Amino acid sequence: MAFSRRNFLKGAAAGSAAAACAAATTTPAEARENLTMPPKAVGLLYDSTICVGCKACVVACRDANDTHPEFSTEEKLWDNPLDISGKTITVIKMYSEGTGQHKDQEKDGFAFMKRSCLHCVDPSCVSVCPVTAMTKDPVTGIVSHEPADCIGCRYCIVACPFAVPQFEFDKAFPKLLKCQLCKHRQAEGKIPACAEVCPTGATLFGPVTALKEEADRRLAVPAGKPNTFARKTVGSPDVHEHPNAAYVQHAYGTTEMGGTQMLLLSGVPFEKMGYPKLRERSYASEAETIQEGIYHDLIAPVALFAGLLYVARKNTKNHDEEE
Ligand code: SF4
Ligand code: SF4
Ligand code: SF4
Repeated sequence: MAFSRRNFLKGAAAGSAAAACAAATTTPAEARENLTMPPKAVGLLYDSTICVGCKACVVACRDANDTHPEFSTEEKLWDNPLDISGKTITVIKMYSEGTGQHKDQEKDGFAFMKRSCLHCVDPSCVSVCPVTAMTKDPVTGIVSHEPADCIGCRYCIVACPFAVPQFEFDKAFPKLLKCQLCKHRQAEGKIPACAEVCPTGATLFGPVTALKEEADRRLAVPAGKPNTFARKTVGSPDVHEHPNAAYVQHAYGTTEMGGTQMLLLSGVPFEKMGYPKLRERSYASEAETIQEGIYHDLIAPVALFAGLLYVARKNTKNHDEEE
């Protein structure tokens, strides 16, 4: 059952008293399976082994999404975000171990890793959002956030297994920031900015089915053998040549949490690169199964959220007055 912010406020006001009485209502739980990927889903393939750490993608993302530089040194000499934040949608992080000499090696090696929203096939952030400010496009599968609908409850921050949604915690009325797969650029016939500028094709855009095939192709080539890597869009004739790396034999995102639309390849184990081992069943499918078993037609959650009503209304009123 979907609620807009308006319906949420109206429904919570009208239904809270009745809902309190209905909180004990129970119905048999029917297990909900993981959602499946839309057939025309698009996404990114990030291949750590051909990333050179230039961070052109980080700069292009700022430019495309109008975010401001973030400094991590007192001198404020250059844009150097340490992680994604309320100001930064994507970062390239670095792994280093021992002497840090050998690219894409776990021991005495170093490697780069992209961090941004993975556009989950069955996203927890969408599942927990009480006002459908977080949505998943039924055609492209892009997970988006609509600021005008957001009541600032921050459930999505808690629910995301990858700690992706970020708020501007230094603002009185913070906005949430996350990758929307440059859907505004796609609407103009362009590809995501990070894929557009990547000089090596380490960040590659395309249909998820084709990206997965490309990931499987790379995983099947023996380490050290010459290989070609398309730039910008999967299948592009503009290719970059490079010896194949010794990959971890798994494309991260093909199974985790029911799958994601950004897939990752790496020479260093993913858990050392900030991507934990996760099961195949999505949190959303499990949580909604339990919820269905406890509550009937979301009446009790309305009671649960009724306490938010006062805060939401107050925020909305104050915010509207400011505009
Ligand atoms: S632009 Fe490409 S090569 Fe450069 S840091 Fe980003 S992903 Fe890596
Ligand atoms: S990575 Fe987090 S924010 Fe992105 S779709 Fe998945 S649950 Fe939502
Ligand atoms: S797809 Fe767009 S918003 Fe997402 S990380 Fe790339 S440039 Fe940034």
